[in-house]
Amino acid sequence: MYSVTSASITETGKVREMNEDAVLETGSLFAVADGMGGHQAGEVASALALSAIGQYVEDNLGIIPGEKLVEKAVSGANAAVHQKAVSGARFRDMGTTVTLLYREGDTAYIGHVGDSRAYLLRNGDLRQLTGDHSLVAGLVEEGEITPEEARSHPQRNVILRALGLEPRVEPDVVSVKIKPGDVFLLATDGLTSLVPDDVISRVLTECPGPADAAGRLVESALEAGGIDNVSVVIVSFAESPTVVPVGALAVEAAGEPLPEATGRGHARRWLVLLALLLVLLAAGFGVGLYFFNHTFFVGVKGGKVTLFKGFPFWDMAMVERQTDIEIKFLPDALRIRVEENLETESRRNAEKTIESLAMEVEKNSSIVPDVEGKGYDEATEILLGAGLRPVPELVSRPEIEPDVVIIQDPAPGARVGKGSDVRLKVVLGGTPAREV
Ligand code: CA
Repeated sequence: MYSVTSASITETGKVREMNEDAVLETGSLFAVADGMGGHQAGEVASALALSAIGQYVEDNLGIIPGEKLVEKAVSGANAAVHQKAVSGARFRDMGTTVTLLYREGDTAYIGHVGDSRAYLLRNGDLRQLTGDHSLVAGLVEEGEITPEEARSHPQRNVILRALGLEPRVEPDVVSVKIKPGDVFLLATDGLTSLVPDDVISRVLTECPGPADAAGRLVESALEAGGIDNVSVVIVSFAESPTVVPVGALAVEAAGEPLPEATGRGHARRWLVLLALLLVLLAAGFGVGLYFFNHTFFVGVKGGKVTLFKGFPFWDMAMVERQTDIEIKFLPDALRIRVEENLETESRRNAEKTIESLAMEVEKNSSIVPDVEGKGYDEATEILLGAGLRPVPELVSRPEIEPDVVIIQDPAPGARVGKGSDVRLKVVLGGTPAREV
């Protein structure tokens, strides 16, 4: 029995506006997908593929054996994406790569279509487990170009097989007997086309755990330009300590020749039950963690609109990002709703919600302009233009030119509600008295 630790990151990168990659990380199923197709269709394709695969594996766990399960899950996902692709013009020609790892006992099954990759780091050696279904991979195989040339080849993005393009797809499935210490990496080409294998190998060897390694790999891709969406999933296997039930220990220690059949049978049942319980717990935890990591909502922290990860109950949320959008500038009804936390949604949608709240604040508030040192007439015009109300107070400063604003309150740069007062200290003029 092995214990599994894993981590995953998917990141838009520095150039693309959207992230069309998707990742999946549960107790026994891990995957990356790299979607393609215009108008956000790629995003739909990758998410749809992974959710179809996750659902299929969940429904058939323990019913269909590993290799068949992976094959059927990928074929099913292909059909789901293809069906969507032919459903309307917006989704036409969309598709996605998928590279997954499904673990059953001490075997890892790798399912693969497209040019994302699976690697295995074992005893310090990095091995690529999948072959790219791409034009350049074919050219490399035929000796036409070198792997190095493939990296910068103008047709490097042309893939020959992807999910959703055709009604049927033939996935590659390989199985690997897991050894203690094995580290598997699933990655989209946003990593592998920018970060050479020897760097990947070094990061996986040197980083203490999957989370560190995943972070470091994504950083390397960003440092190398981050020209594409980049996604990694790292799964690491360690031998877990053997679980020996207390009953069995007592039997051995006492050395009493208990009736073999019942004693051992009892212990074995115990072990099976315990193992089953652990598996169920781990699976439940994995699913829970997956939803936790993919569920966001918008709420308030410190008076500011804040993006939370998790669920808005039972303290099951973490601050993902605190914005500088102050809720006091939201219209009352909206402010109250945000204070009570908005409904959970995907990260992308939560970010859109934040954008619209920012626009709402923008509409209802103004940044106080700098009018100190300006003449009163000009200052008034500027403040009215910004939707604010100048409130002058005349002060006597014989040494300063009359009619000049010497102090304003609030200070320049502060954000205040539309229509707020801005108090101005204006130097009393020698000229005819001004009505203020
Ligand atoms: Ca890509």
